[in-house]
Amino acid sequence: MLKSIDHIGIAVRNLDESLDTFQKLLQFEDVHRESIAEQKVDIASFKIGEVKIELTCPTSDDSPIAKFIAKRGEGIHHIAFASDGIETDLKRIKSEDIRLINETPLRGAHDMLIAFIHPKSLSGVLAEVCQRK
Ligand code: ZN
Repeated sequence: MLKSIDHIGIAVRNLDESLDTFQKLLQFEDVHRESIAEQKVDIASFKIGEVKIELTCPTSDDSPIAKFIAKRGEGIHHIAFASDGIETDLKRIKSEDIRLINETPLRGAHDMLIAFIHPKSLSGVLAEVCQRK
């Protein structure tokens, strides 16, 4: 089942500059940084309440995030819902005729299993289903 919002992904051009601004705004202490080679991005994430914000910066022009920024500029990229059983959730979502981008989970940040739902199926919102391993 999908029970909560795990994180909100934000596409940024400059990770350090954006992180600095969010830090001034929200005054968090802990930041998790990670490079995800498969997706050609660097991320910095922090918590506000129970929800994480994940700043995502492309490391290459052919990164999906670079393409997103080129087309739409910086901004909210996706909303991620926490799943307690991703395989079951993906089957159920597919059976509801909601279009999945990934029918089998990929590895995401924080070593989570992730899969994306197509924005055309969800009022223009790119959504992610994620599960901690
Ligand atoms: Zn995400």
